[in-house]
Amino acid sequence: MEFKIGCHLSSAGGYMAMGQTAVSIGANVFQFFTRNPRGGAAKPVDPADAKAFCAYAAEKGIGPILAHAPYTLNAAGAEERVREFAESTMRDDLKRLELTPGALYNFHPGSHVGQGAETGIALISGMLNRILTPAWQTTVLLETMAGKGSEVGRNFEELRAIIDATELGDRVGVCLDTCHVWDGGYDIVDDLDGVLARFDSILGLHRLKAIHLNDSLNVCEAHKDRHACIGKGKIGTDALARVINHPKLRDLPFYLETPNDLDGYRAEIALLKTLRANA
Ligand code: FE
Ligand code: FE
Ligand code: ZN
Repeated sequence: MEFKIGCHLSSAGGYMAMGQTAVSIGANVFQFFTRNPRGGAAKPVDPADAKAFCAYAAEKGIGPILAHAPYTLNAAGAEERVREFAESTMRDDLKRLELTPGALYNFHPGSHVGQGAETGIALISGMLNRILTPAWQTTVLLETMAGKGSEVGRNFEELRAIIDATELGDRVGVCLDTCHVWDGGYDIVDDLDGVLARFDSILGLHRLKAIHLNDSLNVCEAHKDRHACIGKGKIGTDALARVINHPKLRDLPFYLETPNDLDGYRAEIALLKTLRANA
C-alpha cells in the first residue's frame, strides 16, 4: 500500500488551502485543529470549501484527514462548565466533520485533575455515550498520552477501560503518538515488537487507526510530552524508520507533529519517504 505521510497544518485558510499545502510539501494526509487549540469558538465551516476539497482530495489521493480536538477539551474536568465545554465542542466538531465524510477525529481523553483515573474514565466514557451515534461518518480516536500531570490514557489499560465503558466502543479507535508512548514508558526503540504485542493484547491492533510520528526530547518514561523533530530526540531516526516500515503499522496514516515550519515539514516528509523506500 501507498505510504500515507503528512503533518499538522494550519486550518486558518480552510480545507482547500490545507489540501493544496499538503500537496505542495509532498504530503498525502494531514492533521488540523478543528478550532483554536487553546479554546474559543470555531469559525463556521464553508460547505462549498469542504465540497471542493473532497473532490480535490479524491483526485489527488489525499486522506484520511485527521481532525484534532482543542487541547482545552477536558471531558474529565472537575468543574461542570469544563465538562460541558468538552461535550458541546465535540458534538459540534463531529457535526461539522459530516461535511468531509470518512475523516478521523482525535482527542486527548482528558485530565482527571485529582479526581483519580477511575472517575476520569467514567466521565470520559459518559460523554462519549451521550455523543456517539452510529450515524456519524467520522471515526473518533483516543490518543495515547504521555502521562503528564493527571492525564487519563497514560497506558493502554486506561484507554481500554474508556472503550469498555462506552456503548459504541467498538467504533472508537486509537491514535498512537510515538512521543507520548515513549514518554509513557513504552520502549519503542529497543522493543517495538513487544510494545505492539501489548497494544494488541490490551486494545487490539484493529483499533489502531493513526500514528502521530514524533521524536521526543526526553528519555523513555519521562512523562513530559515534549516533541522533537525526527532524529533530533531520544527516539531517533532508526527507531522511527522501523515504526513506518513495521508490517503491522506500515499501512496506517502517519502525521508529523514535530516543531517545524512548512519547509521543515517538507524536508522531514522527504526524509521519511527515503527511509520507507530503502527499508
Ligand atoms: Fe494530540
Ligand atoms: Fe499527538
Ligand atoms: Zn504531545
